[in-house]
Amino acid sequence: MKEGFDTTHCFTVEGKLALPYSYFAGRVGSKFLTTIRDQKKIMGIKCNKCKKVYVPPRQTCDVCLEDIRDNWVDVKNTGEVTNFTVVRYQDRHLPKKPPYILAMIKLDGADTSLVHVVEGIDVEKVKVGLKVRAVFAKETTSTILDIDHFAPA
Ligand SMILES: [Zn+2]
Repeated sequence: MKEGFDTTHCFTVEGKLALPYSYFAGRVGSKFLTTIRDQKKIMGIKCNKCKKVYVPPRQTCDVCLEDIRDNWVDVKNTGEVTNFTVVRYQDRHLPKKPPYILAMIKLDGADTSLVHVVEGIDVEKVKVGLKVRAVFAKETTSTILDIDHFAPA
């Protein structure tokens, strides 16, 4: 007897779903994004107990579990690549045309990394420790892409 499921008796209908939605970045995420949009400035949140600076910011320290939502601090627009991958496939939701570098970037003054695109360097030449700076978008989209990309500093 043949193993597996006999699909000749399955009833299926091909379809397509459209799912309009609104995404709310939250209190902390909203201030982070609107400060980038309106002031071209990147801010983090510092835990006053353990001194860890989070970028992207968060509401609660993951070490101390302190509520840190109001402890905004400035960080630099420069930093370094702490990890990366090269995106080599095209998909509608992706922000750039492949191949491009998607990197974890620890900004100067921050203790955590944010994920963003690195441009201005060959995808084969990027490495951990590369110094980069934020390049802000000329036109806002009110998203994290108001930082258009990071470029070698
Ligand atoms: Zn803490």
